[in-house]
Amino acid sequence: MARFDGKVALVTGAASGIGRGIAEAFAREGGHAVIADLNRDAAEATARAINAAGGAASAVAMDVTDETQVDDGVEAIVARTGRIDILVSNAGIQIVKPVQEFSLAEWRKMLAIHLDGAFLTTRACLRHMYAQKSGAIIYMGSVHSKEASKLKAPYVTAKHGLMGLSKTVAKEGAAYNVRSNVVCPGFVRTPLVEKQIPEQAATLGLTEEQVIRDVMLRDTVDATFTTIEDVAEAVLYYAGFPTNALTGQSMVVSHGWHMG
Ligand code: NAD
Repeated sequence: MARFDGKVALVTGAASGIGRGIAEAFAREGGHAVIADLNRDAAEATARAINAAGGAASAVAMDVTDETQVDDGVEAIVARTGRIDILVSNAGIQIVKPVQEFSLAEWRKMLAIHLDGAFLTTRACLRHMYAQKSGAIIYMGSVHSKEASKLKAPYVTAKHGLMGLSKTVAKEGAAYNVRSNVVCPGFVRTPLVEKQIPEQAATLGLTEEQVIRDVMLRDTVDATFTTIEDVAEAVLYYAGFPTNALTGQSMVVSHGWHMG
């Protein structure tokens, strides 16, 4: 029997990058992966690819900042699958610039996707997890849940904020056998990071190679990017952990960039 046989995992932002890798990993281990993403076509294509590879997946179009879309999306999943066992709150974006150059609209957009999205998906899933008396929530944090970097004020603020939400959910969820944890990756070469390399090079007056070597990987132990597979492995570890011994925690997966 595979580790996630019969389990339903909702992964937000799963049409690309880390979220897609997590959904594929759940499906490989017997779970039903629900690909939730703003990008409907990409979400459906991802689900089709997982099904074609022999896994089980379905897609739901969802803007995680939209209360109705999140509530309706989660109800549709439960109507289809009968349950929801795992939420991976992963959808995210990045906007890079100095604090004084952020518009209020940009600040709010960042906090809405990372924090409102985490809250809304958590609330919608908890209703079912509490009724089932079981569940696991994993938030996609970052080394920026623990450290700050220049040019990333709203991202660092939001990623720190997820730690507070997760710890509170861990306390409230324990009586219902619902666990909550945060995975904190270092830099992973996804579209989100590929976009930042030229942007940071322009803002900091560096070459792209310098941004990678002297900014992104400077504090790692081996000048190596974390991979999507590394992050998925950590998420699945939390998702499959059988008791409340491991709740309210965070795991940094960053080639030693942050040592907590
Ligand atoms: P990505 O850009 O490859 O994928 C993000 C996905 O989220 C996209 O498919 C996008 O359509 C979706 N999305 C964006 N806004 C959304 C919304 N409002 N509703 C639903 N879906 C939405 O990015 P990624 O690098 O895979 O990042 C995934 C998560 O991992 C983010 O939370 C990010 O902050 C975090 N993270 C990334 C890195 C890294 O180095 N790539 C490091 C640490 C943490």
